[in-house]
Amino acid sequence: MANDRRVLIVGGGIGGMVAAVALRRQGNAVHVIEAARREDQLGTGINLQHNALVALQEAGLLEQCKAEGFPWETITNRNGLTGEIISRVDMPWPKRPGVPGAMGIMRTTFAEILAQEALSLGVEITYQTKVASLEQDGTGVTVELTNGVRDRGDVVVSADGAYSQIRRMVFGDEHKLEYAGQGVWRFTVPRPKTLDGFTMFRNPDGKSTGFLPLAPDLAYYFLLESTAEPLRVSADKAADMLSERLSVFEVPEVRDLLPLMYKGWHVSYRPFDVLLMPAPWHKGRVVLLGDAAHSLTPQLTSGGGMAIEDAVVLAQELRDNDDVDDALNAYSVRRQERCGIVYRNSRRICDIEKEGSKDGAEGTRIMVDSFKLLAQDY
Ligand SMILES: Cc1cc2nc3c(=O)[nH]c(=O)nc-3n(C[C@H](O)[C@H](O)[C@H](O)COP(=O)(O)OP(=O)(O)OC[C@H]3O[C@@H](n4cnc5c(N)ncnc54)[C@H](O)[C@@H]3O)c2cc1C
Repeated sequence: MANDRRVLIVGGGIGGMVAAVALRRQGNAVHVIEAARREDQLGTGINLQHNALVALQEAGLLEQCKAEGFPWETITNRNGLTGEIISRVDMPWPKRPGVPGAMGIMRTTFAEILAQEALSLGVEITYQTKVASLEQDGTGVTVELTNGVRDRGDVVVSADGAYSQIRRMVFGDEHKLEYAGQGVWRFTVPRPKTLDGFTMFRNPDGKSTGFLPLAPDLAYYFLLESTAEPLRVSADKAADMLSERLSVFEVPEVRDLLPLMYKGWHVSYRPFDVLLMPAPWHKGRVVLLGDAAHSLTPQLTSGGGMAIEDAVVLAQELRDNDDVDDALNAYSVRRQERCGIVYRNSRRICDIEKEGSKDGAEGTRIMVDSFKLLAQDY
């Protein structure tokens, strides 16, 4: 058992903060170095699958999230013109008692839960700061921060997201993100009371929009768009562009909410940039975690979940191995296959959706199979 290390975590997003909480609970000293300000969190929601919620439970974070989020248990495909149900699947995989099948939550709320828990445990968090230089030797890693502070850790965790600076510094510039040929529009709305699970509205011509609940009174719609190049969307045009795209859905659950886009409800577009890092995910004592190691298309709503699992597994391996290299190696081996499957299955559904699916049958099958697999221990 080794629980007295000093761990420097670069990036205080989902993966970095869950790792901070899990490692600090074990007794390690933890310093999180975050480029943004605490209040700079994105204003939309995230869906956490059962496996992610199990990992949050292990990190001692589930109950706080359950108090704020919206648990759901069904995947429904409905006709986007008539509202008629095309198919409905109740999550057919084994579930841990007390852990919902899945749960939506506002990202801002989730980030605050993580920050509060970390700070109350004694995690040191430095906001608005990056790593200026990094040097490692056989016993640790020394970093110089952009605020002039020097720090030294037994391990540095690169949890600084898809466009990771630390990955570039340590693993080289050759690992590039690839545009997946698709992006997503998102629109936060009051939750229509008729919708209480993951719902896809599908028009007979193959166009679709998806719905996810986030809280009793909040939800969001997403609309996938396939383009050869990422769209350029200026903030003042986003509502017009999305409103036009959603106007082809006639169900009242979509149609009646469109005016809200002009009343300040969050609208955004983001292209999908993907990457799966080859093994191993560590070089010396610097280890990749979350999107820095595997940036997925979001069809399985699992990028955040994989980052949370990474965090919990990394904490387990650092606890169970006296030798840091053994710990990082074991972490990398345990995470590679599982993250690879989620990466490929998400991408496969993305490709199916790019072709346009009227009933969503194949995508739903891959989704259910993936979630069954993810219900097995990480
Ligand atoms: C449209 C869309 C929808 C998604 N929906 C879901 C979903 O429903 N469910 C789900 O599980 N996942 C979803 N994801 C994926 C999920 O958002 C990511 O996988 C998850 O945020 C990854 O967590 P992370 O901690 O690795 O990175 P991030 O959450 O991106 O955190 C990285 C952090 O590092 C900081 N940072 C960046 N650079 C530096 C630097 N140089 N120095 C210091 N700090 C730095 C950033 O400010 C940020 O706080 C979605 C993704 C997209 C694009």
